[in-house]
Amino acid sequence: MELVRHPLLPAVPGTQQELVSLHYGTPGRGLKVSIQASLHADEVPGMLVAQHLRQRLAVLEAAGRIQGEIVLVPAANPMGLNQWHLRGLQGRFEFHSGENFNRHYADLAATVAERLAGQLGADARHNVALVRSALREAVAALPTRSSLASLRKILLGLAIDADIVLDLHCDGEAVLHFYTAEALWPEAQLLGRCLGAELALLANASGDDPFDEACSMVWAKLAERFGPEIPLPMACLSATLELRGEADVRHDYASRDADAILHYLAERGVISGAVPQLPEEQVPACEALPLSGSIPLVAPHGGMVVFVRQPGERLQAGERIADLVDPISGASTPINSPVDGLFFARENRRFAVAGMSLGKVVGREALRQGKLLSA
Ligand SMILES: [Zn+2]
Repeated sequence: MELVRHPLLPAVPGTQQELVSLHYGTPGRGLKVSIQASLHADEVPGMLVAQHLRQRLAVLEAAGRIQGEIVLVPAANPMGLNQWHLRGLQGRFEFHSGENFNRHYADLAATVAERLAGQLGADARHNVALVRSALREAVAALPTRSSLASLRKILLGLAIDADIVLDLHCDGEAVLHFYTAEALWPEAQLLGRCLGAELALLANASGDDPFDEACSMVWAKLAERFGPEIPLPMACLSATLELRGEADVRHDYASRDADAILHYLAERGVISGAVPQLPEEQVPACEALPLSGSIPLVAPHGGMVVFVRQPGERLQAGERIADLVDPISGASTPINSPVDGLFFARENRRFAVAGMSLGKVVGREALRQGKLLSA
């Protein structure tokens, strides 16, 4: 294992933060995998999964069982981890700009297409290699005018040429689910099965360029630009894994999730030999539904949030999920399911302000348009 330190652009003189990446296996031999934990720094389960992964990867590497290259970023957001306000960790939005740490990753399609004009041919493998090389150059040329820009550039540089990118997040309180591109679903089914995920939320453009889409959708955009004569596959399977809820920081979950990720990597040929698998009876059928079918439950007024249904329950439209109780008037407003579907995630705070999302139910119909992710 090689540990690499990547200094961030200091926000002010006299300060220095760094990102650390752990590199296992051999670059250029087999597939490249990039796994990063807790880009939203207050979503801690991913960082614990990374700890369980590094222990297993050390053993696998010593046994010569890593057939490709695995890059593990055990804490993807040192800036966010250092953002504390009045005893609370604020790891989702950067304090200085207000920007979400998992948005605004560079769309490199135009730069790469320009760089490779006239160079791609009939050999898909050769095309993929040329595109990866151009992607690396394009990331290296990105400007770093702020600490946040330097963090995004470093993270993208570690993943942009990977075959598999797993970005480990979590929700407030939720079942294990993941986001990926529609076009990747045939391949991502295997990931869903290995993880034991109940749900995959599919979109090709969820809005504002989250990390996983920057890594995968650049391939779709390039294929469209070069046209059908140039064979160019979706060469990166990327997914944002939502490892349940913020409080689900448990060794048993993390151990299970680390095993599940390694099972997937073994299926893809990155790990040789047998690895632990989830017992068949613990693997739910992973349902793929449109992200545009995920409907937020919006609080119509402030009040106490009293849930009467659990994440993972299947509901019919109109069924009551929670009561929103005004402590002054005593009035209670039922919060009902907006659609038939799976109640897969809910807020972990129990007091709401008007307009706040209290949870999400996803159905089969694509009912929403525009930006599909929450802020
Ligand atoms: Zn997140």
